[in-house]
Amino acid sequence: MGPQRLDAVRAALAEAAVEVALFSVGAEMPWLVGYEAMPLERLTMLVVPVDAPATLVVPALEEARVGAVPDEVTVRPWGETDDPVAMVADLVGSARRAVIGDRTWARFVLALQAAVDGLALSSATPVVGPLRAVKDADELAALRSAAAAADRVQRALVGGEVPLEGRTERDVADELGRRLLAEGHTQVNFTIVAAGSRAASPHHEPGDDRIARGDVVLADIGGTYPGPHGVGYCSDITRCVAVGGVAPEVREAYEVLAAAQAAGVAAARVGVAAADVDRAARSVISDAGMGARFIHRTGHGIGVEAHEDPYLVEGNRTPLQAGNVFSVEPGIYVPGRFGLRLEDIVAATPDGPERLNRLDRSLAAVDA
Ligand code: ZN
Ligand code: ZN
Repeated sequence: MGPQRLDAVRAALAEAAVEVALFSVGAEMPWLVGYEAMPLERLTMLVVPVDAPATLVVPALEEARVGAVPDEVTVRPWGETDDPVAMVADLVGSARRAVIGDRTWARFVLALQAAVDGLALSSATPVVGPLRAVKDADELAALRSAAAAADRVQRALVGGEVPLEGRTERDVADELGRRLLAEGHTQVNFTIVAAGSRAASPHHEPGDDRIARGDVVLADIGGTYPGPHGVGYCSDITRCVAVGGVAPEVREAYEVLAAAQAAGVAAARVGVAAADVDRAARSVISDAGMGARFIHRTGHGIGVEAHEDPYLVEGNRTPLQAGNVFSVEPGIYVPGRFGLRLEDIVAATPDGPERLNRLDRSLAAVDA
């Protein structure tokens, strides 16, 4: 955090011939200044001009929540009768080329466009995403801790400590969420629990269906873990566990899946294009005749956000850099039958890929 990141953003703005960056709700503001905007109808906006110090425009009633920010940042609170869009427009000044965070509410984007004549706005992600994608040592440490905490939760699941047979998916999902918090996460981001044929939908919403003997249960869980400067970093891990025996077709598919994941991780070396990691994992599944069952990209970057650059997807020729952290999560989904996914978080390092999740990767089996 701090002045180095603000300066890095300015350098990227200069290179893109952009005069000012605007950040509101989303990951950029906490990553830059350690403060996260409340997702309110009241505008919070960090204004970073390419050639001047940054200003944080914040509702006066939120000012007390703004902790330590880098020295250069002026905090400018606004009262209930002030016009925060006019304040931002004033800070934008004569700039005509601006980038804005993807999650900024449309109403503020529209109001800013109306307030600043001829302002050309584009997404901040191509400018800031590549910077955020390279984690520093503190961020890597936080992501390792987050992964270790998520490993402990999944270890309980695959080790049979979490009863499955007869329980609803929602009940198990709730328990996994409580365990994420008990292991030090400050927030649960998702707990996908999908049993049997329902796991063929990769983002299945856990419901009232009960887990039965013979089901393979897919559990994909993640939360936010405390990191440096009061900013949280995300975990994300998927394991599958069979309840009372495994059908041969499931076992065969899982062996292919595990080999695909290992191939993806092994390919994730510095300098390798993101798309080639996807291809390394995908080709194992395709070669086994199940290519059509792997219906999503191989992985996504992870950091302050659960999904961010770099995306391991066909067409992304961006080479991996040391400090990139991402998931490697191939899946095999057979509609009406079963779904399998195996996911670990991996860091690209000068010494090769480092798995942050260390939990055993074989298909777990429990009695109940
Ligand atoms: Zn996941
Ligand atoms: Zn993921």
